[in-house]
Amino acid sequence: MTDTPADAERTRVFSGMQPSGEAHLGNYLGALRRWVAMQEEYDCIWCIVDDHAITAGGDPVELPGHTFDLAVSFLAVGLDPERATIFVQSDVPEHTELAWLLNAVTPVGDLERMTQYKDKSQRFESVPAGVLNYPILQAADILLYKAGAVPVGEDQRQHLELTREIARRFNATYGETFPEPEALIGQAGRIVGLDGDAKMSKSLGNTVPLLAEPDAVWERVRTAVTDPQRVRLSDPGRPEHCNVFSLHRHFASEEELEDIATQCRAATRGCVDCKRILSDHIADAFAPYRERAAHYTAHPGEVRDILEAGAEKARTRAKETLREVRSRMGLDWRRALEG
Ligand code: SF4
Repeated sequence: MTDTPADAERTRVFSGMQPSGEAHLGNYLGALRRWVAMQEEYDCIWCIVDDHAITAGGDPVELPGHTFDLAVSFLAVGLDPERATIFVQSDVPEHTELAWLLNAVTPVGDLERMTQYKDKSQRFESVPAGVLNYPILQAADILLYKAGAVPVGEDQRQHLELTREIARRFNATYGETFPEPEALIGQAGRIVGLDGDAKMSKSLGNTVPLLAEPDAVWERVRTAVTDPQRVRLSDPGRPEHCNVFSLHRHFASEEELEDIATQCRAATRGCVDCKRILSDHIADAFAPYRERAAHYTAHPGEVRDILEAGAEKARTRAKETLREVRSRMGLDWRRALEG
């Protein structure tokens, strides 16, 4: 599979997601639904970034299954191998090679300034180098394909700025090679978890699995924290202070939202009822994804073929960039034989 003329005309976009198994509501609202829409307009590269998942070790027994399950979620929501390149990062070793080469133009001070590094490094007695160098691999992921734009949330903006800085430094040192990718900031903002506090994440257990059956969706949604001032059914609620209401915004019509807000303020609808509506909306919206996921889970060979074809297409582009980068850095000793 190689680039088509249509690919060449569209801005190339790269984004990746770490494999921690089946995607969840936060992945969907924050990234996946946007990625699906972007396939109409951009030359998209969607990557399951398993090399990132081992930044600080990880579980080698679980990782293959988590990677497969995320691939199923990708395909279930509508990431489309006919319109985008979908693959697993470790199938294209050029990512890690370029990361090594970009080490040469990345000051350690820049890495130590990253907010995520400051947060994550607190968790270790002895910080693995991968936790520090992680943004260089992110830069390599993007620059390897000379992506012109990257869909990011606010929390990734700093890393993308570092990628742009790395591209500038490389270009200044070795000659114009990389475009500086633009940030495509999403409208969704920070998706707060069911605890009403932290960012929605699987590890915090404050989310809903994307492919959960309706009963399992309800089991999760019924635990959601609501307006802390609404203690009794008769207390008027404040939808603008309720995370359940924020989540309703992603699924309910304008009219329905208006009704929910009015009944909440007048204390004519209880929170359990309100959460039930949200749960039903989520289960209904994700029903086609559950159906498609069941197909792919029953036909794992199809998933393998899609990922392998995607990796082949990605590798063709990656090799081209690597050839250029290696030559610019003098890693082509045969040139010495050319008189
Ligand atoms: Fe939140 Fe709904 Fe309860 Fe109002 S009725 S506080 S919007 S869960």
